[in-house]
Amino acid sequence: VGEFDVIRRYFQHPLRPAGVVLGNGDDCALLTPAPGQTLAVSTDMLVEWRHFFPDVDPEALGHKALAVNLSDLAAMGAEPLAFTLALSLPKVDEVWLEGFSTGLLALANLHGCALVGGDTTAGPLNLCITVFGQVPATQALRRSSAQVGDDIYVSGTLGDARLALEALQGQVSLGAVDLARVRQRLERPTPRVALGQALRGVAHAAADVSDGLTGDLAHILNASDVGADLHWSKISNSIAISSVMKSVNDGFLFDFFLNGGDDYELVFTAPPSAHWQVQQAATQAQTPVTRIGTICAKSGIRVLDHNGLPMALPGRSFDHFA
Ligand code: ADP
Ligand code: MG
Repeated sequence: VGEFDVIRRYFQHPLRPAGVVLGNGDDCALLTPAPGQTLAVSTDMLVEWRHFFPDVDPEALGHKALAVNLSDLAAMGAEPLAFTLALSLPKVDEVWLEGFSTGLLALANLHGCALVGGDTTAGPLNLCITVFGQVPATQALRRSSAQVGDDIYVSGTLGDARLALEALQGQVSLGAVDLARVRQRLERPTPRVALGQALRGVAHAAADVSDGLTGDLAHILNASDVGADLHWSKISNSIAISSVMKSVNDGFLFDFFLNGGDDYELVFTAPPSAHWQVQQAATQAQTPVTRIGTICAKSGIRVLDHNGLPMALPGRSFDHFA
């Protein structure tokens, strides 16, 4: 089985959404965004050991490799159009390739996003996807557009993927039902593509939460030259995590919700006058959103308790079980 057999068998994708003029097989793919729309482009790489373990289910890995890229399109308010896949493989393992391409192309089909090209080479396992989406340039959800007085929202729940990771590493013990649920969130994240598009013209600024809420919100704050007050009671809304809450201390929970990682939710800001439109966008996208705080002029992030008093936040090197 040679390089071209691999491409033909596993990475030939017949999907042709409007905008994809030519898929793979030539020197380049050809894309034409709809009139009035601009291409939105993003790349994410997944490296063995760093982003996933060698024994991960290849179907889940195929899903996740594309999901993390679609999440970036979602955070820009862009509609998925196409993607390319650069793949370095230690060997041609047909069972692995079958699983990987099944997970990858199933998610691609769900979002009408066509695999239009790539590169395949021998080497350590490494996956790199570039996605192309379209969005009217004036409606793209940039990180730099948050304004003082904006409400801050987050979609879905935070910390679930981190909880799964800690459970799989034996740091936390979880019941079978909870573990299955959070493991799904870690291994098969749902990119908030519909929500991102529904927030066009509603949200001021947005980012996706891939490295933890505080880190990714900080990108918006820095780009917009503002700060944030967050309400702890609004952030800690994950049901899966509340089931372990009683057995762990506060610092542990802070770390999960605020620095969790791999959430692939959207954090975004919108003026209070758009509150109803935000709710409508959430309903239309069938994605829950929670208002977690406010953009303010004073730089930095403060987390406030029930009485509105700032809470002391443990650093990143906090010892969970001390
Ligand atoms: P080039 O010689 O231009 O590098 P290749 O021989 O690497 O082209 O690839 C041949 C065709 O197969 C190209 O159209 C390329 O986009 C496509 N291709 C290569 N690898 C992949 C992949 N992993 N997934 C999808 N298409 C691929
Ligand atoms: Mg090539």
